[in-house]
Amino acid sequence: MTMNRELKLYNSLTREKEIFEPLHPGYIGMYVCGPTVYNDVHLGNCRTFMSFDIIFRYLKYIGYKVRYVRNITDVGHLLDDGEDRILKGAKADKLEPMEVVQKYSNGFHDMMRLFNVLEPSIEPRASGHIIEQIEMVQAILDNGYGYIKNGSVYFDTLKFAKEKGVYGQLSGRVVEELIAESRDNLKNQDEKNHPADFALWMKAAPEHILRWNSPWSVGFPGWHLECSAMSTKYLGETFDIHGGGNDLKFPHHENEVAQNVSACGHAPARYWLHSNMLLLNGKKMSKSDGNTVSPTELIEGASVHMSKAYSPAVIRFFMLQTHYRSTLDLTDEGLQAGEKGYRRLMEGMKALEGLTPSADARPGALDQELNELVEQAFQEMDDDFNTPKALARLFDLVTRINSLAGGHLPLAEVSGDTIERLKQFFRDFVFDVLGLKDDSQAGDTGTAIIDGLMELIVDMRKDARDRKDWAASDKIRDSLKEIGVQLKDSKEGTSWVIE
Ligand code: AMP
Ligand code: ZN
Repeated sequence: MTMNRELKLYNSLTREKEIFEPLHPGYIGMYVCGPTVYNDVHLGNCRTFMSFDIIFRYLKYIGYKVRYVRNITDVGHLLDDGEDRILKGAKADKLEPMEVVQKYSNGFHDMMRLFNVLEPSIEPRASGHIIEQIEMVQAILDNGYGYIKNGSVYFDTLKFAKEKGVYGQLSGRVVEELIAESRDNLKNQDEKNHPADFALWMKAAPEHILRWNSPWSVGFPGWHLECSAMSTKYLGETFDIHGGGNDLKFPHHENEVAQNVSACGHAPARYWLHSNMLLLNGKKMSKSDGNTVSPTELIEGASVHMSKAYSPAVIRFFMLQTHYRSTLDLTDEGLQAGEKGYRRLMEGMKALEGLTPSADARPGALDQELNELVEQAFQEMDDDFNTPKALARLFDLVTRINSLAGGHLPLAEVSGDTIERLKQFFRDFVFDVLGLKDDSQAGDTGTAIIDGLMELIVDMRKDARDRKDWAASDKIRDSLKEIGVQLKDSKEGTSWVIE
């Protein structure tokens, strides 16, 4: 589908809503900072990637060709105590660093699939782009914004801020404040000329096994560098949209801009989009504070914070009810309300599918109102991807659809074309743009539980047969048959089908 729609985006760089103009007509380059893969993702991380998934889906839906790059951080992201996150994960799990990276990348991808988050166009890993990062450090040194100390290379923030005047633009802080506050997670703080400087390349201590050769030392790149190097490689020196959670604005994104300006002479992205945090009990959901809910916990009903299980589609719907730039508190009540809303939407769609246009339709005001509501839902999305308001328009439509289905509104006032348009609109908007799934028949949770139970029953029957307890084995088979489940024995083992 191609639509000529005017999009307004809130740009963190200018702190204003701006009319979006792509660099190249019909094409958008978008970079979003991905996860650091050293432990399981929590629902807060998932919210951020769902927010950008909606943005990706909507941009594509309105006709843009989008190159969406979302990286995997597998080197250089240090903890507050200066320890490398991947190495910490490796120690905790007794694995090779790259095994840790693989394990948690797989886990991250599983969660993304669970929530129906589309795969990005490119998913580069920091450790696969060491050469590009070394080249960028060299360019920054050549241009005079870096200095070498004992084999490590640091960014000269003060010089950059004075000469370029753009440091602090993104986070909205004045340079003096930044400098007073600034502290990064480096063990070798004393090597830096100034506290606000940050590492571009770190010389590896002997025990640091994630290490590569470079012109300066055997070491590893600083965390901020990977995104500058990889966005430049895959999207060019200037591209359209850069996104991430708003906790990354400072220092990560601010330093990314500084690196790009120093190496390439200009800022990387024209529009910076920042999504807001998922909270638990009013506080940012965060692993280091120990207040997280994992997606699997919530889906299996095993979270101590919640009274019951919620399906992935319900959780996604719950997230969509809040605008991506607002904080969202994860609560049982909120999820229950979300579940009700989600069911109402699915039921409304079923009622719509059941509507057959009247043969002698004379479209009137109602027909016009339905078409206007469809257009308004698009307008809400055009206005900085306002999913809660778009959903409100969808529910306005559901109210009318239910009335039409119940005979409280005259179907004869709606044209066949409008009914067809509504059906198409709901399918596209709910499934393709919002990325929801209908979990009502074989819900994701239900299917997993049934699979698990059947595996258990088949195992128990096998045990009975091994004991030559034919009475028990037959009872299991016959009882299952009574409820419509047929067991099939073969050389490979026992399988089952629902009749
Ligand atoms: P990390 O793996 O820590 O680099 O985080 C991956 C992404 O999750 C980043 O874009 C963070 O901004 C985002 N994130 C972390 N905590 C939360 C939260 N509580 N709510 C929403 N996004 C979060
Ligand atoms: Zn990044």
